[in-house]
Amino acid sequence: MALRIGGHSIGLDRKDPQANLNFVSHAHSDHTSAVKKGARILCSSVTRELVEVRSKYGINAVEKPECVSLLNSGHMLGSRQLYIESEEYGCSVIYTGDYQLQESSTSEPIEIRHADVLMVDSTYPFANVAFDERDEVITAMQHYIRYKERMGCVIFGAYSMGKAQEIISICNDVGIEPVVDRNTARMTEVYNRNGFGLRFVEAEDMANHFDSPVEIVSMGKLYETKMLASEAGKTAFTAVATGFARFQKFRADVQFTLSDHADFKQTLDYVEQCGPKSIFTYGPNADILAKNLRAYGHDAREFDVRSDLGKMMALEI
Ligand SMILES: [Zn+2]
Repeated sequence: MALRIGGHSIGLDRKDPQANLNFVSHAHSDHTSAVKKGARILCSSVTRELVEVRSKYGINAVEKPECVSLLNSGHMLGSRQLYIESEEYGCSVIYTGDYQLQESSTSEPIEIRHADVLMVDSTYPFANVAFDERDEVITAMQHYIRYKERMGCVIFGAYSMGKAQEIISICNDVGIEPVVDRNTARMTEVYNRNGFGLRFVEAEDMANHFDSPVEIVSMGKLYETKMLASEAGKTAFTAVATGFARFQKFRADVQFTLSDHADFKQTLDYVEQCGPKSIFTYGPNADILAKNLRAYGHDAREFDVRSDLGKMMALEI
């Protein structure tokens, strides 16, 4: 998926053989496939730092072209949208990447700007899926942790960047310093170098660290860590915190709907504030989101990866 603007072909969050410039909206690994040796990368300075700490090699970050701005997307620390105002097309374009409108304590609030063309992510396209208020979910998590503390500990399964830091922040707010593995600790150190004061305990070996009321591990190690706690004579409760908890059952004792993506209502709010003439949806649920946006009177359709936006825009505008 690439945008062709002037002399640039800008890859969008994935490796594109045509691209001579690669936009990486944020540091989650499903958005960084273009980060290869020598690739010219356009991203925020925090995304660069997170990716470099994770991958241990340098990013060839380039200056953004004059017609390009990077806008906060609210998804995680350093996440950005791509905004292009092009004389060539005579209009403006926004590519959202992953985004959300609810404010998180560990990411910059989203910036919404008017654009003629909106390319919008479709992670949660369903009109009947609505997330609860973030503060309510966080309060429920804190109550659960405090309640279970009397019996044992809570082990959260979470991505090492983004969600793990949110959970650390939620725990810090009630005076708890969670235990995290080395990987999460390294990512959290990047957050702290960028102005956060997240408090945590790093464990080389999680098997010996069940004294804190909360441990955070990768999703893949959730059940295994519970078994380790059991072998250590500790009662442990497993938990996940993700938007997918709204409609998917996880192998965990409790699941909280804490999302870093927009639900359909947030998408409608975004579209209203952005005011685009045309909307292109992308991602695994692009066709469903386009259909649901059309039902609300918007000119929306699935982005066609075989085409080039310039040709489509020439047709549309
Ligand atoms: Zn993401």
